[in-house]
Amino acid sequence: MEQTYIMIKPDGVQRGLIGEIVSRIEKRGLKVAAMRLGVMSAESAKEHYREHAERPFFASLIEYVTSGPSVSMVVEGKNAIAIMRAVNGATNPVNAAPGTIRGDFAIETGRNVVHASDSPESAKREISIHFKGSEIVSYSKIDEVCLYE
Ligand code: UDP
Repeated sequence: MEQTYIMIKPDGVQRGLIGEIVSRIEKRGLKVAAMRLGVMSAESAKEHYREHAERPFFASLIEYVTSGPSVSMVVEGKNAIAIMRAVNGATNPVNAAPGTIRGDFAIETGRNVVHASDSPESAKREISIHFKGSEIVSYSKIDEVCLYE
């Protein structure tokens, strides 16, 4: 089973989309293995987005993701990383297909509601920034016998 790091960004929380987004993740068949609401520290945000440190939008991105409470999750399942990238939709909501979170709920790249890790390496790195190992729960769900061959 693969794990990925998901964030409901502060705009998603302010717009009352926590339940909608968690519901989409659950209905798809993925399992929430860890979840926390809190205001991300600038230190964590800068580490999380360090690959963008030289980009012109870096300062506004850090301001945005630390501007209020966000929800951090570890989401688990077969191909969870690729599935969650597809569930979220394209980075720029203009290009995000209807039916994706960004395609249904967002207008601009700088307010695109959600984050999902883009590779196994990113997932491992991002999960370790935001969660201690002891906060990630390993458990079985009864629907797994129906979801997996
Ligand atoms: N971003 C931005 N302006 C840009 C590109 C990206 O504000 O021109 C923000 C946006 O919130 C995006 C995040 O930076 O989600 C990370 O960008 P990335 O290209 O890694 O996209 P993602 O993995 O979130 O789809």
